[in-house]
Amino acid sequence: MIERTLVLLKPDCIADRHCGDVISRFEASGLEIVGCKMMLLANEVLAEHYAHVMDRPFYPELKSFMQSSPVIALALSGENAVALVRDLMGPTDSRKAPKGTIRGDFGKDTMVNVVHGSDSPENAVLELKRFFAERELFEFTAKR
Ligand code: UDP
Ligand code: MG
Repeated sequence: MIERTLVLLKPDCIADRHCGDVISRFEASGLEIVGCKMMLLANEVLAEHYAHVMDRPFYPELKSFMQSSPVIALALSGENAVALVRDLMGPTDSRKAPKGTIRGDFGKDTMVNVVHGSDSPENAVLELKRFFAERELFEFTAKR
């Protein structure tokens, strides 16, 4: 099934200049970019995006990390895009992520882990709405 998913290139990805490497992996896996923008995450957006970890002790540190620079938001489209992106990312803790995954190759630890990717098709729909207006999303199917 063709799906769309939300990816965020986190501040460490930009600072370490791995955006090209990371995007290359997505493209090489058959995903295409259907939305892209650089943005500073406002408090409200971040609170919604990370509502599931807001009560955790690490949230203040996560908040300052995620607001330490702009992030790059990508909408990616392709066959099983949600699960494919999660596979390419690897698990949350970069130190436990296998080599060959984005986090395993470029990440530092559990917090500073290069990328966000939606964790289910339902959340992908919600997250894409949160980060992109409908007019900022495009479809490129069958135009090669
Ligand atoms: N995070 C953290 N410490 C933890 C768990 C998560 O700093 O113990 C941060 C990390 O940046 C992670 C984000 O919170 O990517 C969201 O956590 P989630 O469990 O949704 O992990 P993900 O879906 O990003 O793998
Ligand atoms: Mg998550």
